[in-house]
Amino acid sequence: MTQRLCLVHYHEIGLKGKNRAIFENQLVKNLRRALKAFDVAAIARISGYVVVESADAHASEEMAAAIRRVPGVARVSLAYRCGLDEGDYVACAIRALGESGDFASFKVHARRSATTYERHSIDMNRLVGSALCEAFPDKKVDVHHPDVTVVVHVVQGSTYVYAASAPGVGGLPVGTAGKVVPLLSSGFDSPVATWMVGRRGATCVPVHFSGRPMTADTSEWLCQDIVDALAPSGVVGRLYVVPFGERQREISLAVPQSLRIIIYRRVMVQVAERIAHLEGAKALVTGESLGQVASQTLENIAAVDEAVSMPVLRPLIGSDKQEIIRRAQEIGTYDISCQTAPDCCTLFMPRRPETHARIAHVLEAWESFDHAAMVDELVERAEWRDFSQCPSYRPPRADEYRARHAELAGARKEGER
Ligand code: ATP
Ligand code: MG
Repeated sequence: MTQRLCLVHYHEIGLKGKNRAIFENQLVKNLRRALKAFDVAAIARISGYVVVESADAHASEEMAAAIRRVPGVARVSLAYRCGLDEGDYVACAIRALGESGDFASFKVHARRSATTYERHSIDMNRLVGSALCEAFPDKKVDVHHPDVTVVVHVVQGSTYVYAASAPGVGGLPVGTAGKVVPLLSSGFDSPVATWMVGRRGATCVPVHFSGRPMTADTSEWLCQDIVDALAPSGVVGRLYVVPFGERQREISLAVPQSLRIIIYRRVMVQVAERIAHLEGAKALVTGESLGQVASQTLENIAAVDEAVSMPVLRPLIGSDKQEIIRRAQEIGTYDISCQTAPDCCTLFMPRRPETHARIAHVLEAWESFDHAAMVDELVERAEWRDFSQCPSYRPPRADEYRARHAELAGARKEGER
């Protein structure tokens, strides 16, 4: 019987030597999760592909589209699978080429991964090629630069046949590059930054700072919507929300107006770093791009980074706003980010923020209030919501989380003495 299924291609994983099995297994797990809404019969690795079979033996374009959004997927082909009978695979090749849209030229590329199949691939090329020439008399064979290549691949007692394939998001399977803590706002940039590190295989545990109770909790809902919008890529496991409004008011009273933003940011990265330690994450991520706004100058970036020892990744540092907006549209966060909501960033903003902070001034302001106690308290008050879309996310156990938090806060107090 001829089946229609999705063949998933993943070239980058192929480069990973002996880690390959780990990468492939993670990709299979992630695909299983991403395709939960579909009736999937099996997901299996065969000879350099992952094969996704639907229960009705007729995989759909929708299923292929869902697969394309999963990090680690380079391309997806809707393929036919039949037995080794030549009449069957020739018929599949004719169907596959017929579904290839507009084209002028084609070629056949036959392969055997099973050497027990007696026909040589050159023979298969000839056989399928002449059948296609007969079926499509107005199309040309071009072995060097064809518009379409019909692949006929014999693997483990079956023949896989496909012509068209559509690009996936690329990258590496989420869960193969460790854990990171992105600082997530409901703006355009940080959702894109989060998606980008996720696409490179990182499991993301974002933290959002809201202005609550000085503002409404709208920004928190928008951040949840953003995580939901990212669900098809499965990059986010848990979202932390830290109500920051009251502490911001304290900061705004304690430090010079022009340095407020930098001081808020220092507190934010320290809280995020502490959460990263509790989660076993190894880096922070922000959506900053160089010079985009006053706070994103080299001096101000340095003044914020000085507060933490963990690497702060900034995947958008060299991107233009237009590129970021285009990416936000592709990943489905654009419409959510268009809705403005006050968050901690709109609260107690200075009239004239410092654009080239001097570190000595920043440190003086930093020492003018009990920042360490503030960080402890904010971490203590962090709330979270888990998302089941990310199979690689392992939450810390609640009791361990509390114990570790107490330990980190205790170590800090000890250091002060
Ligand atoms: P975004 O579009 O991501 O909001 P932005 O252009 O508004 O960025 P800033 O407000 O300077 O720029 O924020 C810089 C970065 O700081 C953000 O990309 C994000 O990583 C982090 N950040 C800003 N606001 C928050 C927040 N309320 N909670 C968590 N992180 C935040
Ligand atoms: Mg913002």
